[in-house]
Amino acid sequence: MIPFNIPPYVPKCSEYVSQAMANRKICGDGPFTKRCSEALERMTGAPRALLTTSGTSALEMAALLMDIQPGDEVVMPSFTFVSTANAFVLRGADIVFADICEDTLNLDPRCVQAALTPRTRAVVPVHYAGVCCDMDAINAIAAEHRLKVVEDAAQAVGSLYHGRPAGTLSDVGCFSFHETKNYSMGEGGAVVLNDAALVERAEIIREKGTDRSRFYRGQVDKYTWQDVGSSFLPSELNAAYLLAQLEEMADIAAARMRRWEQYHEAFAALEARGAVRRMYVPEGCIHNAHMYYLILRSQEERAGLIAFLRARDISAVFHYVPLHSAAAGRRFGRFHGEDRNTTRLSERLLRLPMYYDLGQEACERVIEAVYDYFERRNAK
Ligand SMILES: *Cc1c(COP(=O)(O)O)cnc(C)c1O
Repeated sequence: MIPFNIPPYVPKCSEYVSQAMANRKICGDGPFTKRCSEALERMTGAPRALLTTSGTSALEMAALLMDIQPGDEVVMPSFTFVSTANAFVLRGADIVFADICEDTLNLDPRCVQAALTPRTRAVVPVHYAGVCCDMDAINAIAAEHRLKVVEDAAQAVGSLYHGRPAGTLSDVGCFSFHETKNYSMGEGGAVVLNDAALVERAEIIREKGTDRSRFYRGQVDKYTWQDVGSSFLPSELNAAYLLAQLEEMADIAAARMRRWEQYHEAFAALEARGAVRRMYVPEGCIHNAHMYYLILRSQEERAGLIAFLRARDISAVFHYVPLHSAAAGRRFGRFHGEDRNTTRLSERLLRLPMYYDLGQEACERVIEAVYDYFERRNAK
């Protein structure tokens, strides 16, 4: 059986979790959390990165930090995970879904521009499949209209945009360390704070609205309620598990990239025949091999291929049901303009197995099975 995902694990995960347990203090913001923050700050060069309990809570923190108020409009793709929208819906915002680009499936800056109203307060680009959005264009629109930008970089840990790390291309970047992502602590995430002026408030929001972080640093003699907030800090056990992977990041990234390249080279011929469209990575983007997907010719062909692969013990999946078409999406948002790409592409996208432990032979088996499907279809 070749599963769709196996969560990343390195032997040091167990070692570090044991150490965290031996410390007998596993609440948040201990030594492992600190080392994770430092590793993320080194990787991104951002003034501060704070671990959170999930990518979802990182987005919630970002929405709080950006002071999103009821009635504010927030522009984002409909082709994304529910958390991108929920974080802002929780603040009372109205979600305005804009269409995606045909080639990258990322937010189309022209559609963002068209969706703006006097109530627009923020834009949330999602770096789908670890390929960065056209941030130069999005940031230019944001600067002109004084909008906040929050990157949903949940899938883009380690990706680069013209040499700059994903998560550092906006006011606040949000990472996920869910077990489906490149680096995992089971459930977890991080906010990347790119404006030093946001750091203190972020620490307060993350610590139930108190200045406990300042207290621990000896800057105040007691900690008190300062602001709105919640509990966004993960346990040391989770941080220890993550730290092991952050320390092995180069190795994990290289292993994923080998499999990504293997798929990509193998499917060039299938693309040339017009059977599929491969993932596209624009000039200037270095992705993190988070995902390998194909765009098929039709939804029926996708269903057929999924069933065909399943019969060969290979698990391939799809996502997302466009948010604007879902019950909550209709309630909390609206799609601006024509849906030219979102629904059409989401119906035809197929994700192939991709994970750190995926071996070359398993990858080859997936490739052969996909080719086999199309040979048989043609033979009919
Ligand atoms: C995974 C993901 C999230 C949510 O992250 P969690 O850690 O699962 O809460 C948000 N946005 C996108 C685009 C994601 O892929």
